[in-house]
Amino acid sequence: MSELKTVVCPYCGFGCRLLVDPRSMRVSPHKGAPNYGKLCPKGLHATEFVLSGDRLKRPLKRDGNRMKAISWGQAIEEVAQKLLEIRELYGPDAVAFLASSKVSNEENYLLQKIARLFGTNNIDNCARLCHEASVHALKMTVGAGAQTNPYEDIPNFNAVLIWGYNPAETHPVVMDYILRAKRRGAKIIVVDIRETRTMAFADYKLVIRPGTDIALANAMMHVIIKEELYDEEFIASRTVGFSELRMATKKYTPKYAERVTGVPAGTIEEVARTFALAGSGAVMWGMGLTQHVGGVENVLAVIDLALLLGYIGERGGLYPMRGQNNVQGAAYMGALSEFLPGYIPLTDERFRKRVASLWGVDDLPTERGLYLTELWDAIEDGTVKGLYVVGENPAVSEADFTRVRGALRKLDLLVVQDLFMTRTARYAHYILPASAFCEKEGSYMNSERRIQWSHRVCEPVHDSKPDWEILMMLGKALGLPGFDYRSVEEVTAEYFRLFPSLEERSVEELKNSDGIFLPRKRLHTWEFSTPDGKARLVAVEQVAPWEKPDAEYPFILTTVRLISHYNTGEMTLRSPSLVRLMGEPRVLMNEGDAEKLGIADGDWVEIETRRGRIRMRAKVGKAPKGLLVLPFHFKANKLTSDALNKAGTPEFKFSAARLRKLRNE
Ligand code: SF4
Repeated sequence: MSELKTVVCPYCGFGCRLLVDPRSMRVSPHKGAPNYGKLCPKGLHATEFVLSGDRLKRPLKRDGNRMKAISWGQAIEEVAQKLLEIRELYGPDAVAFLASSKVSNEENYLLQKIARLFGTNNIDNCARLCHEASVHALKMTVGAGAQTNPYEDIPNFNAVLIWGYNPAETHPVVMDYILRAKRRGAKIIVVDIRETRTMAFADYKLVIRPGTDIALANAMMHVIIKEELYDEEFIASRTVGFSELRMATKKYTPKYAERVTGVPAGTIEEVARTFALAGSGAVMWGMGLTQHVGGVENVLAVIDLALLLGYIGERGGLYPMRGQNNVQGAAYMGALSEFLPGYIPLTDERFRKRVASLWGVDDLPTERGLYLTELWDAIEDGTVKGLYVVGENPAVSEADFTRVRGALRKLDLLVVQDLFMTRTARYAHYILPASAFCEKEGSYMNSERRIQWSHRVCEPVHDSKPDWEILMMLGKALGLPGFDYRSVEEVTAEYFRLFPSLEERSVEELKNSDGIFLPRKRLHTWEFSTPDGKARLVAVEQVAPWEKPDAEYPFILTTVRLISHYNTGEMTLRSPSLVRLMGEPRVLMNEGDAEKLGIADGDWVEIETRRGRIRMRAKVGKAPKGLLVLPFHFKANKLTSDALNKAGTPEFKFSAARLRKLRNE
């Protein structure tokens, strides 16, 4: 057997490390942190898509309806030229850059460096679609937009509150940590809008009506405050805003919350007491909270709940569980339109000038750039003319994708850097073939802020190149300073210089470790990252969904993730083992609803919203009445609503829909 190489799993944000045999490309689990010998099916089959015959072979340029192969030299030269022409004619903000939560820290760092040196903050990544509401809420309350504690703390807590999050399906390996807590006697409380796989392990299963999370959280706080179960000393010494929170939660009695959420008042009281009296607890949440027009408020409510009990540091943690393997890293590297690296605001002149000087210029643009979700309007109205996309597939991943596809068609220049001819790449003027995760080196940051090194297993296939090499060539061709890197490690060393806790660390140390936490394992143990060191309790009211079911569209449509699939399916649908595991995707619906419409399990149905319609087979089973549950990996976003919350995330989780049985299929 050849020497096994350690790589970071290319899928979810849990960040398992894989051992890959370079000859057979077979995967086995790493025995060290964070996965300790465990992997889910996606990790086990992670190299299958790399070997797919569909990989892009060489750079392509649009020639009418055809794409013709060109050299790297010509591709980079022409792309740079066209970007500069757009800047000359319309200014730097007429170009936008879309970074990727799947490529390394170094690659995200380079793309945002290109964007900002080019003169625009139009740089964003798909964190906008998932946890940007968490980032905003965490910054407002505790001052830092990231998970507060490592996974290793979870088994030590006496309660785990899992809200709008289904780890058994989305981050299977984290379930091991949760179950270790359960075996120690911790109470597991799961809140969701349907019975999930995770609920099978719960002590308390709270199935709430869609969009009523705040009513439940506020009612739990109402009970905790009324029965004086909160941590008085913690509230007094480490927080501000308690009186406002007490006032705001007064009307959220358990009886009131029962009417809104559907959860019996007695259960709300019992769960509130159980969580409060546990003495320590984790709050874990997912997109069930964030992908609503009230996404920021939803997250604020569960953070308030944890703060009320002092569940921070040794006694608890806030766990916004990230979706993609480097979504946390992309954000920390500054691939967001409102933040410089490290989530530092663009208005922080001292830091901005420090970054500028490291990059060899006097200053950087200060105006917030466009959110990814604001791009489509900007393209439609002609403000944005050029888009450079690295490893993302907005033609499938964006809400109301028919509109997005229309916008992509309007661009003067669309460049797509990817592994495959994605749905987005079909609209491109230039396509640049990128190397897969195991064909290159670099660092990635998982959900717990652990930076891990991923080693090269094999050479890039065909004429593909690592993303960082492509971006280095582009930076040089654009005439930007500071793109003369001799290795990816030089990029790593450069971003280390922007983070005080990394300044003294070396790339070698990172390579030989189980990872380095940025900035440290636990946040806020003694003080919060706010100007006065105190956390803010921010009282919130229930926010109504943007679209309500009515006589025409009587169902609520929500979207979910499946264990064997990932995002827009470009990787997992090219993995034969995963395709076999999952079978055909179906829309889950309630038995009574199905009976009324004469639909049997396996029947073809048409699901329609105000944005479009799709066909799929029905799965009749455990869904609450009136709810349709659709996997988001395929064509669900033809239907979803692009109403945005305060952080720019669409309301993927709530659309008014109708459904009918199809005959003669
Ligand atoms: Fe990869 Fe996530 Fe599965 Fe681990 S749990 S193997 S990181 S997809």
